[in-house]
Parts: sequence; C-alpha cells; structure tokens
Amino acid sequence: MPEKSLILIVDDEIISRSTIEILLASEGYELIFVDNGETALRKAIELIPDLMLLDIMMPGMNGFEVCQQLRANPRTTKLPVVMITALDDRESRLRGLEVGADDFMSKPFDRAELRARIRTITRLNRYRRLVETEEQLVYLANYDTLTGLPNRNLLMERLQQSLGRARRTHQNVAVLVVDVDSFRIINDSFGHDCADNLLCEVAHRLTQTVSEIEATVARVNGDEFVILFDTDNLLVKDVSGIAQRLLNNISQPLILNKHEIIVTASVGISVYPSDGEEAAALLKNANVAVSRAKATGKNTYQFFTTKMNQAAFKRLILENQLRRVLERKELCLFYQPQIALSTGQLVGMEALLRWQHPESGLLSPSQFVSVAEEMNLIIPIGEWVLRTACYQTQAWQAAGLPPVCISINVSSRQFKPVYWLQTIKNVLQESQLAPNYLELELTESVLMEEHNDNNNSIVAVLTELRAMGVRIAIDDFGTGYSSLSYLKRLPVNTLKIDRSFIQDINSNRDDAAIITAIIALAHSLHLSVVAEGVENKEQLTFLQSRQCEIVQGYLLSKPLSQEEMTKLLQRIDKQPLCLLPI
Ligand code: C2E
Ligand code: MG
Ligand code: MG
Repeated sequence: MPEKSLILIVDDEIISRSTIEILLASEGYELIFVDNGETALRKAIELIPDLMLLDIMMPGMNGFEVCQQLRANPRTTKLPVVMITALDDRESRLRGLEVGADDFMSKPFDRAELRARIRTITRLNRYRRLVETEEQLVYLANYDTLTGLPNRNLLMERLQQSLGRARRTHQNVAVLVVDVDSFRIINDSFGHDCADNLLCEVAHRLTQTVSEIEATVARVNGDEFVILFDTDNLLVKDVSGIAQRLLNNISQPLILNKHEIIVTASVGISVYPSDGEEAAALLKNANVAVSRAKATGKNTYQFFTTKMNQAAFKRLILENQLRRVLERKELCLFYQPQIALSTGQLVGMEALLRWQHPESGLLSPSQFVSVAEEMNLIIPIGEWVLRTACYQTQAWQAAGLPPVCISINVSSRQFKPVYWLQTIKNVLQESQLAPNYLELELTESVLMEEHNDNNNSIVAVLTELRAMGVRIAIDDFGTGYSSLSYLKRLPVNTLKIDRSFIQDINSNRDDAAIITAIIALAHSLHLSVVAEGVENKEQLTFLQSRQCEIVQGYLLSKPLSQEEMTKLLQRIDKQPLCLLPI
C-alpha cells in the first residue's frame, strides 16, 4: 500500500476544487481532481483511492448517479464517499444516504471539520484494507486458488490435529490419496483452461461424495487430492465403500470443451496407526498405495496394507456373487418348527434364509444379509423369500399335508410399508395361500420408526394386513426399545422372546424375571408368546411353568430343509406326533 492516502475529488467548480486543495495541502495526501462523473468512475476503478469527495450538482452524471454506480461495482463498492452538499440541504442528504454515501460535508467548508473528518475516514479505510490484505494472505497460504479447497499446508495442519486426537482417543485416521488417471493426456489434448475446469469438477465431486462424513478434502498439487477423516472403529468395508463411491462419482461422464468424456482416478489408502504414526509416513504410504492402484490398471483403490486389500477384495467378490444370487437360483429356505407347549404339536414354522454358495457351501443370514441390505439387494431377496415361502406352504397344503402357519423375517431396510402391502397382496393372490397362514416377523426397530404421513404409516399398513388375516409378530422381543403404550397401539399377534434371554434362564435371575414379565405382559395384551432358541430341558420346563405357548429351538428341531420338512409333515399327517422330548 502506498505511503500517502489518495483522495479523488470530483467537482465541476474550479473555485471549490482550489479551496479543497488549499485546505488539504498541508495534510500530506495525494490529491487527484476530476470535473465530471464519468471520469470519476473511471479513475475510481483504476486507482481505488482511499476516499472520494463527491459534489452533487454537476453537468452530465450527477453525484447521486456516480455514487450508485460505485456501489454497484464490486471493485468500488467499499470505497468511502463523502458528498458535498449545501448547508441544510436535508433532501440531498437523505437521497445521498439512499445511494450509499458514507458522510456529508457542507459548503462553505469549515476548515477544521473538513480536515478532521477526512483524516478519520482515510485512516479507517486504510486499516480496513490492511485487514483485508492480511485475510487474503492467510487464505492464500491455506487454500488452493483454483478449486477453493484446502492446500497442502492446511491439510498437514488438519492431519496433525487428527493424529493428536487419535492418539488420545485410540481412534483411526484414514488418508486417501486421489490421483486423476492420465491427467497429462487430458491437459495436452484439451488445453490448460479445460484441464483447470476438470480439476474443479473433480474437486466438487470429491467434496460431494464425502459430504456426509466429517472429512477434509485438499488439493495438494496438480491432479493430486487428499481426503482425510477420523474413524472411531475402522472397518475396512467402510473405508473401501467410500473409496469405491469416490471412484464411481468421478467416473460419471462430464462435458469438457463441448465433448462428453469420462475421467477416472486411482485411490491409495493408508490408515493410522497401522500404516504410520506420523503425518509424513501416512502420506508417503498412501502415495505408495496409489502407485500400486495405477499399476493394477487404474480406476481402482488400494490399501497400503496387504491384509486390508485382501479383506476389501473378499468383500468385493461377495458383493459380485450376491448380485447374481437370484438369477443363479442359489438361495433356499430352511424351515424351523414351532411347537405348542401344551400339546407338543407343530403349529407353525419360521422360514430361514440360506445361501448355497458355490465355493463356501451353505451360508447363514449373518454372513450375507447385512451386505445385501447395504447393497439394497435385500428388497428383491426379501420378495423372493416371501414368494417362495407362500408358494411352498400352499404346495404342502395342496398335497393334502396338515396346514401350518409360516413366519417370514422382514428386515428394517426392506420394510417400506406401502410397497410391502402391495407385494404381499400380489403374492398371496398369485400363490393362492390363505392370508391367515402367513406371519411377518418384524423387529422392534421397524415398528418404532415414525412415519409422518399418516396414510403411509406402519401402523396403518399393519392394520390393513391384519384385517386381511395376515399375522404380525415382533421378533427378538426384549432387545429393542418398544414402549408399552406403543405395543398396545400396534396390531400385533405374537411376541417372540429373544434367544439371549432364554439362554441363561436357569442361571440368570434377571433373565428369568424378564421372561416371566414378558409372558405376563403378552397375556394381558392377548398376544401369544414364542420362546426362541430353546436348547435344553430346563429351559423348556421353566417356560412350561410360566405358561409360554409356543417354543422353537434346537432341542425340538434344527431348521429343516424343504425335503426334511416335507417328510416331517407327512409323518404328522399319518398320525399326530408329539414333538416335545420325553
Ligand atoms: P431370527 O429371526 O431370530 O431367527 C432365529 C435364529 O436362531 C435362526 O438363525 C435360527 O437358526 C437360530 N436358532 C434357532 N433355534 C436355535 C437354538 O436353539 N440355538 C441357537 N443358538 N440358535 C437357534 P439363522 O437362520 O442363522 O438366522 C439368523 C437371523 O437372520 C434371523 O434371526 C433373522 O433375523 C435373519 N433372517 C433369517 N432369514 C431371513 C430372511 O429371509 N430375511 C431377512 N431379512 N432376515 C432373515
Ligand atoms: Mg425371526
Ligand atoms: Mg429372533
């Protein structure tokens, strides 16, 4: 900033101009005089003075118009403007305020007042400019001017902070280096400006992808970005999920120079503390990993640690196989008998999903249902379960075997009320199964979900299902948060006591008390109770003594394949069978 304050004086009267010149002569300002509005605007933009003294009455553009235009231009919008008015000209002052004047000075000038005011205004303005320049310097030191993202400097600062926190709290920090593939070719063939636009677009896509987690996205040089986030309990699948989403979003088509092109990137990942304790080591190792990702054929991610790559790879394979599980007909249902405690007779069965995996054999739901949920595949899979269970139950009945109710599990991710209502209606109609042979097992978390739109609410849909005759059970009861008042409002038939309470029934007095209470509660609400996971006789005796109606568990029968269940039904058909151990 120059030493002297620069004042631009705009006045068409030569006498006025020379008066000001004389009054300010000894104050050490640099003074520039112009005699019309147009020139004033031009000079103001060119010189950005510290102050403009502006006469109102001028031929051509008057002072109000000049002030208005100054305010409309971002370069001069903050320029201090003092308007020169005649004494007591109240109207001009009001008008001046409207167009954005900062102060007024009346003619004839009071020498002391003029000097004092100008001194204050120019000093304040210089100070403001100084602060702005400093802010700008801080900004330039920490941010990348092209993309507006933090630069290497700020990234290192944030990384140090994250590492400090992680050391105290024993958390993990993930560092992802994202490098645009073949950037040099893009730069050469599209030119510098286009390549800059591309980098801005990549920056935007990266920021959007991680907008839901608290992450720092930085541009560290050229086509290299770094993403940094803390994770309290690092799961390889979470980090690899983010990396995969980054790759997917970057590789969406974009328009460059009127051409649609597809750009890809490679991602290298290092994790504190396993891949390095210090910032520099983590960045270096993430860079090693990104080079490996490039060498593996680009558009992919690599962890620095081989073991994590293997875990991510295994999951990727599982996802791919799961995607084709329906078309390859690899799913099947097992059926676990539910027995009435009073008679020992089969009164129902729970359909349990299995995956006949080509290499690993029969997989249980815990090995794939959560992945299917994350991939949204649980919707078609759930529909397959419903359809298969209904058709099979109807087939058994059509073969003249004793009719039993079938329960199917519906996970919270798949329970979209209105969609389910329609699907169940369709499947019941197609399969010809009477609705009272179908029971849905929902967990407490599904039922507690609030739906604002009353027509679509879970309660409304369940009520309609109940009216059709479909039964509703609450699965794993006792592990969630259902309130009693909520239970009363819900159209539920059955509570299934979670296995964890049954397990220690005879050694844990709390569990015994909880079961006793759940059974009493269910009875007072006219609900039936199923105890899950009954494995020994002591448990059975306890449940009998508490008037639990139905039991299910390995003691009575493991889940059976379709063929085994058919055989059991055939035996029951020949003669009533008591399935309780003697
Ligand atoms: P769940 O609904 O609580 O099912 C009962 C689980 O307990 C079954 O495990 C069953 O095999 C097991 N079990 C039964 N009796 C005993 C016993 O005496 N001792 C022990 N230790 N376990 C017993 P499974 O088949 O592995 O299913 C696990 C969970 O996966 C189910 O828990 C259910 O939440 C879910 N699931 C099963 N089939 C489906 C399905 O078709 N769709 C969805 N979304 N989830 C399903
Ligand atoms: Mg269940
Ligand atoms: Mg259960």
